[in-house]
Amino acid sequence: VANAGEAVKPRPRRPGPRPRNARLSSMPPSPEESRPNLYGLGRPGLRSFFEEAGAPPYHADQAFRWMYRAGRLDPSGWTDFPRPLRSRLGEIARVEEGSIVDRGEAADGTVKYRIAPADGDAVETVVLAQSGRVTLCLSSQVGCALECRFCLTGRMGLVRNLGPGEIVGQVALARSDRRLGDGPFNVVLMGMGEPLGNYDAVLEAVRILTDPEGFGLSHRRITLSTAGIAPAIERLGREPRRPRLAVSLNATTDAVRDRLMPVNRRYPIARLREACRAFARETGDRFTFEYVLLDGVNDGAADVARLARIARGHGAKINLIPYNPVPGRLDYRPTSRERTLEIRDRLAALGARVAVRWSRGAEARAACGQLAVEREGEGAASRRAPRPSQGRNP
Ligand code: SAH
Repeated sequence: VANAGEAVKPRPRRPGPRPRNARLSSMPPSPEESRPNLYGLGRPGLRSFFEEAGAPPYHADQAFRWMYRAGRLDPSGWTDFPRPLRSRLGEIARVEEGSIVDRGEAADGTVKYRIAPADGDAVETVVLAQSGRVTLCLSSQVGCALECRFCLTGRMGLVRNLGPGEIVGQVALARSDRRLGDGPFNVVLMGMGEPLGNYDAVLEAVRILTDPEGFGLSHRRITLSTAGIAPAIERLGREPRRPRLAVSLNATTDAVRDRLMPVNRRYPIARLREACRAFARETGDRFTFEYVLLDGVNDGAADVARLARIARGHGAKINLIPYNPVPGRLDYRPTSRERTLEIRDRLAALGARVAVRWSRGAEARAACGQLAVEREGEGAASRRAPRPSQGRNP
């Protein structure tokens, strides 16, 4: 499956996000935009670029280090390049990581950025800091094709895939905003989008992030979360450098999962579990099941018993996620705190490894399932201009 997201065709969308996008893409490119953007190219892409430019291919490795390790985006400062090439680079290419157009901060220190990539619609990125641990939650698509019923991003439909540069650019921008601290940080692909629906770009981004001469992140610190595109999970298991895997299970029967997550009609639980087994067999890695608790929908005693059985069958850990309601937009209610703790204890008693991922960032609309770029009534001009943030503390 080259682009697994394609396999799950979104139903025709109500009019909304599309028109502006169509207008943007039909605009003639400015001279600025006709130059290729080097930011986001991995080593192979950079090598072809320099070859085509008639320059020695080893410049690819130098450019890679400048852009991703040093964060220096202006080729005129790439001191190990011959001077003429430096100035020529400015004429034949550009190096743009995008920019932060808005930031909101919640009382718990969670920061949500709205980032305008060099070439398109804004995406959202969240930095969570908790007891010394910094986690960056990245988006992989603008919108999402999977239409999970409880998720706000799912309501947008898929607007487009992000390129590798737009994915690593989220890390670079948060890093330059000094939000990542000096120590190691974690990256989770749990923002907007289905990462396995944008497979090639996400994996190229992971390669850039984990390259010792790129961002130098350990691949153990990157977690990819998927709604369960089975063939793409199997493909991921065959990658030499791959992130950790988290699977959003969210229901233990096909009847309920079909309803919550339409992707289940294509890859039902048994098929998904087969893919998880293949991944574990291939990699020897343990993975995580995420389970969003929805009051009266998937939090009954029988659900809990089945969940424990499934997780134990895979030696997988369970992350229980309290539901972040989206009042007025989506009809689901969170399971109560007491019941959540009861479920956790019951799962543990049944021999499952389990933790509750208490929600953070809700105040800045930065919590799971709350990421969506409000588009209606938003003029194109406002996209790039800084706007007052809504979630910031007084
Ligand atoms: N598409 C990927 C990654 C994005 S969603 C996936 O489905 O895994 C990241 C996690 O947030 C998923 O486990 C999803 O089930 C959960 N989620 C979505 N909406 C939520 C909400 N409103 N409250 C809490 N968790 C939510």
